Amino acid sequence: MMAIAEALRRLYERIHEVCIRVGRDPGEVRLMAVSKFHERDALEEAWQGGIRLFGENRVQEAGRKFPGFKQDHPRTELHMIGSLQRNKAKAALALFDCIQSVDRDELITELGTLTLKREQPLMVLLELHTGEASKAGYPDVEHLFRATERVLSFPNLTIGGLMTMAPFTEDKELIRGSFRSLVSARDQLRIRFPGCDWSCLSMGMSNDFEIALEEGATLLRIGTALFGERRP
Ligand SMILES: *Cc1c(COP(=O)(O)O)cnc(C)c1O
Repeated sequence: MMAIAEALRRLYERIHEVCIRVGRDPGEVRLMAVSKFHERDALEEAWQGGIRLFGENRVQEAGRKFPGFKQDHPRTELHMIGSLQRNKAKAALALFDCIQSVDRDELITELGTLTLKREQPLMVLLELHTGEASKAGYPDVEHLFRATERVLSFPNLTIGGLMTMAPFTEDKELIRGSFRSLVSARDQLRIRFPGCDWSCLSMGMSNDFEIALEEGATLLRIGTALFGERRP
């Protein structure tokens, strides 16, 4: 029972340290628990430790785990962080409070159309590909400009910022470069679309979150460093 609480304590400590070192306010950083492959008892422990934001990368798995959990913990916020197929978009909308992994114009159209009659807008992040092997994400900032215009053409989609995944490598400068290109894209989008909220920079995972924090991350997506290794 203690493992997750202890891991959380250590994570908060490291986040605090980096923020102080680079002159950032630790209060502007959100910690997401990436709970894929972990079951209810682990979610519960993370919640007890103060986690309110969870991330899942598959609609089906989230649909199995989260409706019950959310019923017991109504303040839970759940974000989709994995590749979303268009035919799963409807199911995803019933589960997730935000889709972070918006990486194709057809997906924006699908989400925009499905949310036309909603009361509450859906928050989306645009994903930029910055070198990670899977190639998920828009390839460059020009594509992000066009994606933003498309998001803005739907009344119930709201932009919250950007997301990326750094390449899985030991090369810290490569990782840093990946995060810097997300920051640079954000800066350009801010100038082009000053009316949108670009405050969320979702970048940094277990093995690279300290670099992400140094570069300006405001949302860290942490799985392994919190729950331990995944056993698929
Ligand atoms: C699995 C996953 C994470 C968490 O990875 P860890 O290395 O376990 O912290 C973060 N972001 C995305 C998109 C993921 O799929």
